[in-house]
Amino acid sequence: MTNATKAYDALMAFQRETEALAQIAGRLGWDQETMMPRGAADQRAEETGALEGVLHARRTDPRIGEWLAAAEGADEVAVAQLRLIRRSYDRATRVPADLVQEIARVTSIAQGIWAEARSKDDVPAFLPVLEQVIGLRQKEAAAIADGRDPYDALIDDYEPGASASSIGAVFDRMRPRLVALREAVLGAAHQPRPISGAFGAEAQLRLSRKLAANFGYDWLRGRLDTAVHPFSSGSGDDVRITTRIVETDPFNCFYSTIHEVGHATYELAIDPDYRLTPLGAGVSMGVHESQSRIYENQLGRSRAFTGWLFTEMRDRFGEFGINSADDFYGTVNRVQPGFIRTEADEVHYNLHIMMRFDLERALIRGDLAVADLEAAWNDRFKADFGVTVQRPSEGLLQDVHWSCGLFGYFPTYTLGNIYAGCLHKALREAVPDLDTALAEGDPSPATDWLREVLQRHGGLRPPRETIAAACGFKPDEGPLLDYLESKFRGIYGL
Ligand code: ZN
Repeated sequence: MTNATKAYDALMAFQRETEALAQIAGRLGWDQETMMPRGAADQRAEETGALEGVLHARRTDPRIGEWLAAAEGADEVAVAQLRLIRRSYDRATRVPADLVQEIARVTSIAQGIWAEARSKDDVPAFLPVLEQVIGLRQKEAAAIADGRDPYDALIDDYEPGASASSIGAVFDRMRPRLVALREAVLGAAHQPRPISGAFGAEAQLRLSRKLAANFGYDWLRGRLDTAVHPFSSGSGDDVRITTRIVETDPFNCFYSTIHEVGHATYELAIDPDYRLTPLGAGVSMGVHESQSRIYENQLGRSRAFTGWLFTEMRDRFGEFGINSADDFYGTVNRVQPGFIRTEADEVHYNLHIMMRFDLERALIRGDLAVADLEAAWNDRFKADFGVTVQRPSEGLLQDVHWSCGLFGYFPTYTLGNIYAGCLHKALREAVPDLDTALAEGDPSPATDWLREVLQRHGGLRPPRETIAAACGFKPDEGPLLDYLESKFRGIYGL
């Protein structure tokens, strides 16, 4: 055995234990959002902080530097493993251990304060801890950025290779077409009707389970619970999802479930050889979101699939004020300038993201003071959506992200939409008769294709290359905008 091989094997064995501990940390996070008693928050903050400390010590262990210097990748997979470990090591060694622990401790407390403030519409209760979180992330970003834009350093954590300027340029190109589509749709003579009635929680969960199964979720290696903000969690053989239930709005539950199944099946589909290695997880938040979005929107909200869902819902819930599958398709895709990002339709969704992107970029750069954030949010919302925010829980207190310190995360949602648009274009060419299966409630030809061209590869290639390899062309915003215009002009008779 050569020294290079020995170093590689030692590095991978060490890394495997780190990955296992990181999975445990993730499962604690899952527990915090689903099962943990409220009174345990302070203790959990300490537990999480301790575990993050252990993880940081392992990720910055000087032996990694030595192994990296000696190791050589024998094949494409080994080269990719080394690339990801080197990247993580370079980032981790730039950030002091006490700062990492402080970020874990403060963000854990901040999430509790945010939840309380949100339930009471109390912005002043949240701002001091938000200011603390921003200060800590600014410090971290400055340590990593090495003279570059500190916000880029934060984005890079979620979407390797992306930058604020490249994303800003894409958003600038998208905005006029989205605004024009929004105006046309809201001004259309034909407007789809909303759904009406009460939909029992148990029946919603039962149909959610069926939807998850149809989209390929593996119940042997997963489970479904409820949470305030639906999410998926874990990699390998334990990938859990959550959904939420609103009795008057069953779509909230159904499409949250389908969305999270997209995230979860991606993780579950990754080559088992990559388990508990850097390649054994989704490659970036943007690529992850492309899987959840294509499941939820391009497949789950398609005319063909909603035709099946209409029959399924009529069988389970009786009448709910919609008379035909065509009308139901309009109802599922109804466009409305609502306040809440997670409930936004496909036309408005990216406008929510662009607004958060501009605000958080200004916060991290120090161009916007926390004290001015609420006014900045409300002004921008009025300008972009034409309605006035009435309550902070429908405004800047609606999202958990900033309390968790997740600055730079929001733009990955729109990158995910862009990637989903590209994948959908390639998918329709690869599987021309897809609608026949979707009309029977069976998305498996699509999920099989995604598994083959993208999901099984995990972190093998960088994000944009992952999408390009799957699609056969370089990703840009064109296919998403074409899809949105064609779909919504059709529904609204424009
Ligand atoms: Zn998602």
